[in-house]
Amino acid sequence: MSEETALMAQGLKKSYGKVRALRGVDLEVQRGEIFGYLGPNGAGKTTTIRCLLDLIRPDGGTVRVLGIDPQADPVAVQVRTGYLPGELHLDPNMTVEGALRYFNALRGNEADWKFVRQLTERLDLPLKPPIKNLSHGNKQKVGIVQALMHRPELLLLDEPTLGLDPLMQHEVYRLLREAQADGATVFFSSHIMSEVEEVAERVAFIREGVIVEVAETASLINRALRRAHVRFRQPVDMGSLANVPGVTVLSQDDGTSVLLQVEGEMDDLIKALAAFPVSDFETERPSLEEIFLAYYEGDRKEVK
Ligand code: ATP
Repeated sequence: MSEETALMAQGLKKSYGKVRALRGVDLEVQRGEIFGYLGPNGAGKTTTIRCLLDLIRPDGGTVRVLGIDPQADPVAVQVRTGYLPGELHLDPNMTVEGALRYFNALRGNEADWKFVRQLTERLDLPLKPPIKNLSHGNKQKVGIVQALMHRPELLLLDEPTLGLDPLMQHEVYRLLREAQADGATVFFSSHIMSEVEEVAERVAFIREGVIVEVAETASLINRALRRAHVRFRQPVDMGSLANVPGVTVLSQDDGTSVLLQVEGEMDDLIKALAAFPVSDFETERPSLEEIFLAYYEGDRKEVK
């Protein structure tokens, strides 16, 4: 583990009775990264985050957070971390402002209140109402603001955009990028692929307590198969397209249109199409979601 490592887990194990929530999780997140932690419900995301903060004790394995062993010094980890739990418990009778002032007091009133106001304004979170009157989305915003308000060097966020509308989701992504620009490391869990695709540079997939893949988001998408839909001005004999390296014909329609699957770069296909009267050419990149779902289709371990 180098100075540049923000988070490290090795062989992390945790069971709840007979449920083996984590079966040997290995993770390494570098300082300054935005790292997405993806997996379906029950995969072990929350359990991992709780172990990182020593909110629960793992049964085995090693954890380091900002170079610190959280079991030896949980306070040292927690004061340097902004944490959004999956379920934030708030006093229902406190106002939003009261709750935020309370969170600030717990950390020695070190937040700049101007920054807190900026956060609440950007997230469209009213300060005056009591927590009990808030919608689920607005409660989630209180959790996001309390995690960000001290400008911590590490953010551990459990499903940060849960319950937020798309506009607010995008505002949260902007806030995470800004935190990164300020030098923070961001580790967040999600089961929404498009979210991870938009904001994370790297992503780990967890499934049934085991990490099945860690990859750069861009490379994961780029190395996946694409689809190309080609339309022709008049019916053509498109038999030769099936011989283009990396190209598979998925379906064709009376000689005037064809749907192809393309592996790798488009160059060979485009050169082959130059011989045809093409009227339209559309390509589709698979979303991270499609790639991710491929992991869940069965035992397929490799993303083509
Ligand atoms: P989600 O996306 O639904 O939040 P997750 O990936 O965060 O899921 P965890 O909450 O870490 O998953 O749960 C992992 C497994 O451990 C699940 O099977 C869950 O039912 C189980 N589990 C979690 N907490 C407890 C607990 N306190 N007692 C018993 N089992 C638990």
